[in-house]
Amino acid sequence: MHQLTLAEIARGLADKKFSSEELTKVLLARITQLDPQLNSFISLTEELALEQAKAADARRANGESGALLGAPIAHKDLFCTQGIRTSCGSKMLDNFKAPYDATVVAKLAAAGTVTLGKTNMDEFAMGSANESSWYGAVKNPWNLEHVPGGSSGGSAAAVAARLLPAATATDTGGSIRQPAAFTNLTGLKPTYGRVSRWGMIAYASSLDQGGPLARTAEDCAILLQGMAGFDPNDSTSIDEPVPDYAAGLNGSLQGLRIGVPKEYFGAGLDPRIADLIQNSIKELQKLGAVIKEISLPNMQHAIPAYYVIAPAEASSNLSRFDGVRFGHRCEDPKNLEDLYKRSRGEGFGPEVQRRIMVGAYALSAGYYDAYYLKAQKIRRLVKNDFMTAFNEVDIILGPTTPNPAWKLGAKNSDPVAAYLEDVYTITANLAGLPGLSMPAGFVDGLPVGVQLLAPYFQEGRLLNVAHQYQLNTDWHTRTPTGF
Ligand code: GLN
Repeated sequence: MHQLTLAEIARGLADKKFSSEELTKVLLARITQLDPQLNSFISLTEELALEQAKAADARRANGESGALLGAPIAHKDLFCTQGIRTSCGSKMLDNFKAPYDATVVAKLAAAGTVTLGKTNMDEFAMGSANESSWYGAVKNPWNLEHVPGGSSGGSAAAVAARLLPAATATDTGGSIRQPAAFTNLTGLKPTYGRVSRWGMIAYASSLDQGGPLARTAEDCAILLQGMAGFDPNDSTSIDEPVPDYAAGLNGSLQGLRIGVPKEYFGAGLDPRIADLIQNSIKELQKLGAVIKEISLPNMQHAIPAYYVIAPAEASSNLSRFDGVRFGHRCEDPKNLEDLYKRSRGEGFGPEVQRRIMVGAYALSAGYYDAYYLKAQKIRRLVKNDFMTAFNEVDIILGPTTPNPAWKLGAKNSDPVAAYLEDVYTITANLAGLPGLSMPAGFVDGLPVGVQLLAPYFQEGRLLNVAHQYQLNTDWHTRTPTGF
């Protein structure tokens, strides 16, 4: 039963082949048995899950239906869940029980999902390996010596190991797409403003966006349907109608114009990944797509711009964690300053402290123009590159990451080496565009992802292309040994 996708679960529940309660029990037992190898969960919510499963079964018995009614999922541990610890992967929030549900959590609960637990993540979503979590690193089910990607590494590892069919995640610079690529999943970062950020603990507010992680594009469509939509509580949420994503999956790709940026294939890209990307291009050509070479000339400036803007926003967002109102508080402070210093020094891990320092520096008087303002100007150039490209093509295709998942600890002593791995994903966040990663093959037994980017609010186009690709390939069906 643990192999079922969300779409298959919905059919099984509708046909009364099993109940949500039965399925929930199977998955909870599987998590208890297998997760010690992965560390993908920070909290399990068995009681809530069984309650929600029974309620979903009762709603079905009363004639209700719905693709998410009775579907087991988990939430990345930065979505606030009322009365349940919401740690953000940090000691700072280890004892924080959110007083309310995030909009995403509330919407999905109303649609009938069953919350199995909260998934592990890089501390405050800062990272690409899920090694900065205060709750310990997450392991990649494809090879337990390798990282699962980050920051949504817990959601990715759990779904890849078939502990559950799908999970929520967030993407500030690639944290949905990169772990999807590293664990053979399909992950979608929606357009900025498509999914509410209310109750989603902020890392970098102008870049953060929630989205689905699942095994197939079809399942991403189902989960996104439950997450997307205008929210008056989030001033950056956009009042744009939400299309029926499942209904759009079967569009033909005949004549689809795919842009392949020449800058994507420079030095730094593993040539074996380049070959797999060429294979996926051929596959899409067979389905009728037309390939065009394009250029994104400012791409090379994106990493430095992102690693100024994201820490700058983080330094401001994280100033609220001061040991006074909530969060970790040090023992026996001598005075107020000592309370601030020690609470923050003890509560935040090294990567978070590094980013707060970089961000505060970039925003300080005298440096603002040199760093922050310049980074914002680059951001506009990156966006303009995409606007020009989308005049000529319908989607942009390339690798999700330059290399497959690295070994645990391999980049710990060199943070910049890890930042460079974000080269293909962060441009979509800087521009606010939707992006999707889907399985494209394997290198040394480790999964590789192909990334698709589309114009604003064209999530449906990404899901359509990915679904057609998945009807004609079987990479996404491969299961890691031992799971
Ligand atoms: N790796 C990037 C960072 O560390 C992106 C993280 C994310 O998307 N949350 O900032």
